[in-house]
Amino acid sequence: MTPFTYARAGEAAEAVRLGGMGQAKYLGGGTSLVDLLRETIEQPDALVDVTGLSSTIEMRADGSLLIGAATRNSALAEHPVVRSRYPVLARAILAGASAQIRNMATVGGNVLQRTRCSYFYDNEGSRCNKRSPGQGCDAVAGFNRIHAILGASEACVATHPSDMCVALAALDAIVHVRGAGGSRTLPLTALHRLPGDRPDLETTLDQSELITAIELPTLPVGARSTYRKVRDRASYAFALVSVAAVLEVEAGVVRQVRLALGGVAHKPWRARKAEAALLGGPASLQAFRAAAEAELADAAPLRDNGFKVELAIRIITAVLGDLAGEAA
Ligand SMILES: Cc1cc2nc3c(=O)[nH]c(=O)nc-3n(C[C@H](O)[C@H](O)[C@H](O)COP(=O)(O)OP(=O)(O)OC[C@H]3O[C@@H](n4cnc5c(N)ncnc54)[C@H](O)[C@@H]3O)c2cc1C
Ligand code: SF4
Repeated sequence: MTPFTYARAGEAAEAVRLGGMGQAKYLGGGTSLVDLLRETIEQPDALVDVTGLSSTIEMRADGSLLIGAATRNSALAEHPVVRSRYPVLARAILAGASAQIRNMATVGGNVLQRTRCSYFYDNEGSRCNKRSPGQGCDAVAGFNRIHAILGASEACVATHPSDMCVALAALDAIVHVRGAGGSRTLPLTALHRLPGDRPDLETTLDQSELITAIELPTLPVGARSTYRKVRDRASYAFALVSVAAVLEVEAGVVRQVRLALGGVAHKPWRARKAEAALLGGPASLQAFRAAAEAELADAAPLRDNGFKVELAIRIITAVLGDLAGEAA
């Protein structure tokens, strides 16, 4: 492991000041970053511990929820307002990792966790453009069962591993960040990048920008939401495909729908083509399947992951069917 200094920030301004020095990294629960330090994939010269920053979950006057970035994943999933109003988020968090990891992991760290592509972690033996830009990508012609089917590039076919982010994408979550130049907000769907020819650039944040909070806007009163994840084992496994859905149906017609997919792309994939196909139309299994097929029409599966296309179509259809009360 490369030597680094450690400092615990007492407030956001101090964290940003320390984070702007040299090659510093913010440290949340450390459940992802410490592995990368051990493998020397990440080599910061300083760690700025941000677990002492805001971990409150505040209900605001307009009904939205403001979640401090240091909130532990378990605390967020157990929060009564999250469980009752945003079940898609509670379910997504509980579908990830293990209870012990969720107790340690923070919201900020979950959002910025890095891919689980095995070639990325094989620092000694595999070529990886994300780890070493320009080196090549051994996953493209390698064993790529878990890799992307949407929005990938020749440079990188990795997927984003977070379950929580898929729910946040479907909930139109807003990310609050603070940097040297001040504070700003951005939609979660604009935080992560597709790989293009620079898969090492994973987000639209500057190097020292700190996530301070995640905001959940209110949901329509009649909307129902859920999350479904398909994986190789029932626990302790990342998604092959997952779906987060919010649906409001009135008199058999889709009034509101928001869909996001996990396990299929370099970022949580907001399924806007499917949403457009569904809005204002019948809430039927036939319509749900047609919309899912429209979303997956551009899929470009690799040698080992063609099954993800039909799997995604079936999960979308089943999840919307459940929310609409249709048997799937
Ligand atoms: C065995 C195992 C299984 C797992 N399974 C799943 C799974 O099924 N689903 C799933 O979604 N996840 C899974 N995870 C990943 C887990 O959810 C993440 O490790 C965790 O959420 C990261 O949170 P953390 O606070 O520990 O982040 P850290 O490891 O501390 O940090 C992660 C990254 O975020 C940055 N960071 C942290 N906080 C901030 C901030 N406030 N602002 C800016 N940058 C910040 C760090 O610099 C680092 O780059 C698994 C992990 C393990 C080890
Ligand atoms: S898919 Fe991306 S992360 Fe995996 S080896 Fe290729 S470049 Fe690296």
